[in-house]
Amino acid sequence: MCGIVGILGKHEVSPIILDALQRLEYRGYDSAGIATLDNGSIQRRRALGKLINLSDLLVHEPLKGKAGIGHTRWATHGGPSVANAHPHQAGRVTVVHNGIIENFRALREELSANGADFASQTDTETIVHLASSYLDQGMSPPDAVQATLARLDGAFALAFLFEGENDLLIAARRGSPLVIGVGNGEMFVGSDAIALAPLTDQLIYLEEGDYAVLTRSNVRIHDAQGKIVSRPITRIAVENTRVDKSGHRHFMAKEMAEQPAILQAALGFHLCPEGRVLELPKAVDFAGADRVIMVACGTAHYACHVAKYWFEQIAGVPVEIDIASEFRYRNPVLTRNTIAIFVSQSGETADTLAALRHVKEHIARTIAVVNVRTSSIAREADVALPLHAGPEIGVASTKAFTAQLLVLALLSI
Ligand code: GLU
Repeated sequence: MCGIVGILGKHEVSPIILDALQRLEYRGYDSAGIATLDNGSIQRRRALGKLINLSDLLVHEPLKGKAGIGHTRWATHGGPSVANAHPHQAGRVTVVHNGIIENFRALREELSANGADFASQTDTETIVHLASSYLDQGMSPPDAVQATLARLDGAFALAFLFEGENDLLIAARRGSPLVIGVGNGEMFVGSDAIALAPLTDQLIYLEEGDYAVLTRSNVRIHDAQGKIVSRPITRIAVENTRVDKSGHRHFMAKEMAEQPAILQAALGFHLCPEGRVLELPKAVDFAGADRVIMVACGTAHYACHVAKYWFEQIAGVPVEIDIASEFRYRNPVLTRNTIAIFVSQSGETADTLAALRHVKEHIARTIAVVNVRTSSIAREADVALPLHAGPEIGVASTKAFTAQLLVLALLSI
């Protein structure tokens, strides 16, 4: 997972974007870049490795401008290199992308045949050449983005800037998370609320397939069909402090040490203070259920294997467990008496989300067990049970795993 940031601001944006990218560092990356728009023209700086390299580069070659986009890249197509780092540029269009464009090979051949010159090996670069070709045909930037999105297969969160458009940023999402932050005469986009924490607490979560046309004072959101839609503004106060190691040698050690405290907090949240009574949301109702399906990837999948014992021993309900990436390909038999539980630390695990969407219309109820309450899986399930584990930066999951076990144990009881 990489990180995306976009800002239409009142101040010089490159240090603000760099700071927001630092907040997204926990998602992992191999290179990073920023592009800013100044007096109608776009300049970019990109660097391999840690953000400090980009920050050094910006000291020697600063970027001016009050609008900009930034990216931390986790390479999928084309190795980690400066040429492959985002933002990518063609004609008047600059973009940052999180995800994979599955049909990029066919698009690249088509665009090359029409004279496009590719400067990277990425799937992403097809997006800027496509959008630029639509601008050349006379389309406006929003129309060019809509036409571009219609040609893309795959998963993406995108932020576009256009030369000559000082007050325009276009964002789009399909399969990858993206949030809009509404400021006071400023507008922001980010891969998650943590990136935008110091900038605003007024957030708009884009739905699957949406794209948003932003100016400093206005947000216009279109659904996948191009229809203008309204999406609610939610106020979410995300912890503003940068996540640090608090004296531990590394994040994993810190997160292991946090386990007693977070388990206590999670228990306090679910147990009624007067006695040993478990209070779960009303929508957590297993009446009439004759089967539980648990779907997850990686560490969360191991948590499901432990919880299966509890569900069968304590609740007497048969449990099936699936690796999320396989689930929808085996055409699972779904019945109205089935309850499905989706477990994911981030709540954005792409295969787990796809599995949730696959079953949603066909079974009794979907329950999300996730750490990030504003995540796609939490929002799309019928009911979400948060882990209360706080941000988990360590790649090897520790406290989130323990917290998953706790919530699954409470569910089985
Ligand atoms: N597929 C794109 C690339 O390889 C984006 C990867 C990402 O999400 O960082 O450049």
